[in-house]
Amino acid sequence: MPKGKSVFARVPSQTGRQLPRAPARQQLLKRHNLALVLRQIAASRKLSRAQLALCTGLTKATVSTLVDALMEGGLVVESDPERGLIGRPGSPLSLNPQGPAGLGIEINVDYVSTCVVDLTGAVRQRRLLAGDNRLLRPEVVLQRAARAASHLWTEAEASGLNVSGLGVGVPGLVDFDGVLHRAPNLLKWQGIPVAELLSDMLGRPLRSVYCDNEANLAALGELWFGQRDDLRDFVFVSGEIGVGAGIVIGGELFRGVRGLGGELGHVTVDPMGPACSCGARGCLETVAGQEALLEATGLPLKAGTAISGPGGSVAELLDRALAGEQAAVIAIEKAGRALGIALSAFLNVLDLPTVVLGGFYAELAPWLVSPVTSELADRVVNHSWSSTEVVVSSLGADATVRGAAGISLRRIIDDPAAWFGDVLTKT
Ligand SMILES: [Zn+2]
Repeated sequence: MPKGKSVFARVPSQTGRQLPRAPARQQLLKRHNLALVLRQIAASRKLSRAQLALCTGLTKATVSTLVDALMEGGLVVESDPERGLIGRPGSPLSLNPQGPAGLGIEINVDYVSTCVVDLTGAVRQRRLLAGDNRLLRPEVVLQRAARAASHLWTEAEASGLNVSGLGVGVPGLVDFDGVLHRAPNLLKWQGIPVAELLSDMLGRPLRSVYCDNEANLAALGELWFGQRDDLRDFVFVSGEIGVGAGIVIGGELFRGVRGLGGELGHVTVDPMGPACSCGARGCLETVAGQEALLEATGLPLKAGTAISGPGGSVAELLDRALAGEQAAVIAIEKAGRALGIALSAFLNVLDLPTVVLGGFYAELAPWLVSPVTSELADRVVNHSWSSTEVVVSSLGADATVRGAAGISLRRIIDDPAAWFGDVLTKT
């Protein structure tokens, strides 16, 4: 896990739970300090107990008591002191890679992706199923996803992990209760409590379940596990068959008042353009979505093409662009201009300094960045004194499923006392 990234990023709540506002009592103080110490360990890596006391302002005795509790709860491990250091080096503390793990599932239009991530952020298991989910009933797709996830869960357990939470990303509008209300590219999916159904199908105990829009989870994946430590305010653009946006402001996901925002793919870029799956005309997806782009270059619309690697149509599109084929380059640049136009509307309203290109847009970035940047320069009014940075996702097609798997782990790091409930009576 990159240094300094995850610990201060708060996980969005679907329960609306708020910490009490009453004066801090002893147990609340211990709960706060426990989280403070764990966040510092997660952010800094290899701090000793003495260094932790210096960083947090707590006494060495208090730090030791809290660290003992975190170790007893399986969240932290203490290694032997490093050799060769002058004086008496302390024993470095780190998150326990064999502690709790998160299960992530991404159900998208043409694939299902699953993975298990451990407490350090490392991907321990991953599985991918390509297939056009538009042709299948929701319960059939959910069963496929549950079987794949169950297989991974068994593998994770065999390697000593304790899968404790489930996160699910879907390509549609998800409310704060985790109900998928509408997915423009999966027309049969309406009013479906996706995470709850998957949890029932898995039939194993889970401490938390969470469902959100795939672009929102991709943005969190980039925030927590991406290579850039300084990304705190950005819009993550998820390019798949649909096009979504996850907005992060001040290191926190912005989901809108009802959790239904971020539908960048349905921003109008041409009012007289082609009909869109949402019922409107000329949405961004009809010009810059994966299938629109493949159609423009005469490539077949294979399922899972953006993530299945060699042999997929996106790989073929990439090869053609690399070979300098005019039709491919022109189609990608046209998509880039449309993306820039739609994004300029977002950025004029939200004033965000960075755009992260994700999904298959990350692969096409060498041809997309220039037209996107050019449109933003022409259309974002603050550009002349505060230009917008356009960068490429470091997680590629895995951003959503890693963000989904990370949700339950962030909750543990943010509030470890809730993970092992009786610790407050011991410390
Ligand atoms: Zn639309």
